[in-house]
Amino acid sequence: TAEPETFQYQAEVDRLMDLIVNSLYSNRDVFLRELVSNASDALDKIRLMALQDSEEYKSGTDLEIRIRADKEANTVVIEDTGVGMTREELIGTLGTIAKSGTAKFMEAMKEKKDANLIGQFGVGFYSAFLVADKVSVSTKSNKDGSQWLWESAAGAHSYTIKEDAAADIPRGTRITLHLKPDATEFSDPAKLESLIKQYSEFISFPIKLWVKTTKSEQVVDEEATAKAQVEAEEKARAEGKEEAAVDAVQPVMKTVTHEEEQWRVQNDNKPLWVRSPKSVAKDEYDAFFKTTFREFIEPLGVAHFNVEGTIEFSSMLFVPGMAPFDQDRSMAKSRNIRLYVKRVFISDEFDEDLMPRYLSFIKGVVDSSDLPLNVSREILQENRVVRLIRRQLVKRSIDMISDIAGREDKKEYAAFWESFGKFIKLGCIDDADNRKSLAPLLRFSSSAIAAEKGLTSLSEYVERKKEGQTQIYYLAADTRAGAEASPYVESLVSKGYEVLYLTEPIDEVAVQTMEEFEGLKLVDVSREDLNLDDSEEDKAALQSATEEFKGLTAYIKKVLGDKVEKVSVTSRLTDSPAVVVASKFGWSANMERIMRAQTM
Ligand code: ADP
Ligand code: MG
Repeated sequence: TAEPETFQYQAEVDRLMDLIVNSLYSNRDVFLRELVSNASDALDKIRLMALQDSEEYKSGTDLEIRIRADKEANTVVIEDTGVGMTREELIGTLGTIAKSGTAKFMEAMKEKKDANLIGQFGVGFYSAFLVADKVSVSTKSNKDGSQWLWESAAGAHSYTIKEDAAADIPRGTRITLHLKPDATEFSDPAKLESLIKQYSEFISFPIKLWVKTTKSEQVVDEEATAKAQVEAEEKARAEGKEEAAVDAVQPVMKTVTHEEEQWRVQNDNKPLWVRSPKSVAKDEYDAFFKTTFREFIEPLGVAHFNVEGTIEFSSMLFVPGMAPFDQDRSMAKSRNIRLYVKRVFISDEFDEDLMPRYLSFIKGVVDSSDLPLNVSREILQENRVVRLIRRQLVKRSIDMISDIAGREDKKEYAAFWESFGKFIKLGCIDDADNRKSLAPLLRFSSSAIAAEKGLTSLSEYVERKKEGQTQIYYLAADTRAGAEASPYVESLVSKGYEVLYLTEPIDEVAVQTMEEFEGLKLVDVSREDLNLDDSEEDKAALQSATEEFKGLTAYIKKVLGDKVEKVSVTSRLTDSPAVVVASKFGWSANMERIMRAQTM
């Protein structure tokens, strides 16, 4: 047989391994979830391939995951009948990191030292080294028909590959973990059983665990029966009866137990979304969400629905409990929507077609009966069914978020807003059709709410507005303090008007795109044409003052020249003598600042 070939780890993998081996101690047990999830991905792949070409199943039709612990050898073996890997695939995937995000993962890790985060970063395989000194991967793919053995030790900077002499795998992958001396607890099937329950219950393939079972049986206790017979005969004799007249006594029974080892399925692998929403409990949704999306806190909201009629599909959508660590990456390509066709997993790369950009933070599954199994991006983009599905997903997502906003416990929406508020603002800009349902979800800080009291909705603003007030006032600024100190605001606030403080760049764009809310115009207080709902008297006073100071304003304009467009008298100030405002049609001061920052 061939000599093993040695390969160096890519530098990034090397650093990652170093971190995993030397400094992650909490939540080490996530290794099982990661390896089971890889096995499940590999099974999804072969199932999809076999649907297009049944030849793929010539190496067996059983699709399952088997886990076996060996106390004596101090090992755990995780085996699947999935696609397996060719030699090239082994080199390309175990030892190299294809995706970006590792740097962010390392940062997050250094801070939290919590292995639980690993799955979010596409490097789950290496979690094996949380508990193992040495990892062996035997694998066989239909593509090259050879069984390969990949091996590496924790702390080594290299791995080896050779042809596996055992040649005992029809198709799929077997991962053997040689446990570290301080990780022997994982060679106990009871421990593994509880980890599967905790992390992998909703994997949609059977997970079988090799367990010792004790079987008990009722058998005749010969000894006790014989003794009973003798006693019966003695009793008969004592009573003067003849021995021959004694009947045979009832056989005495006893329970015997014997140990047996066998595979036992650990999960109910029927997809959760095909069940009726009424029959699913909250903790099942929570567990499903965590398992499927490698999340570790409960979702803030769940929507589970089955659509019937012209198109048929089931879906389960979730609002995550927190923002992902690398939100930038997830915005570009989130892989948050898993598409199934008739329960067969197709891909998680179609989320851009199924969800608009501003809802890319929603995670979920969609299972359609109306799409072809060989569905591709081209098919999706042209497809009427997809458009209908997308419209439903958007509507259900907004309903779900509105539901969180309506909850009695205000902390929940506050948490949502903190993580995902900017997506809702983006929605107000991008999605004209749904702007009406998105606008009530917006939150802003406001002159009427103390900073520590949080934010206000537009509806709350409207409830508080002055009698006769027909506009909603806002000012865009860098910070709340900056807005408060602004002379633009002082007169309005002193007259009892409320001013919203827009402190994020996107706020202003969102508000300008919306133009109005519940019939009230949204008005920037830094604009020259700011028209307060003033009385006739006020207007007359302003007019006469303008007349009176004509000479002065003309003089100031002459001094400032081209630096200003015009100089006029205003009623908007109380304490400050003068203010520079943006013209009606130009950029606001805040936008100018943003644009300047971008061109620099
Ligand atoms: P991810 O699962 O996010 O891709 P991992 O580090 O968990 O990242 O796995 C890396 C890659 O290794 C997978 O994408 C897959 O190509 C390959 N792989 C890992 N485990 C298996 C397996 N059991 N069967 C087939 N391929 C696997
Ligand atoms: Mg993985």
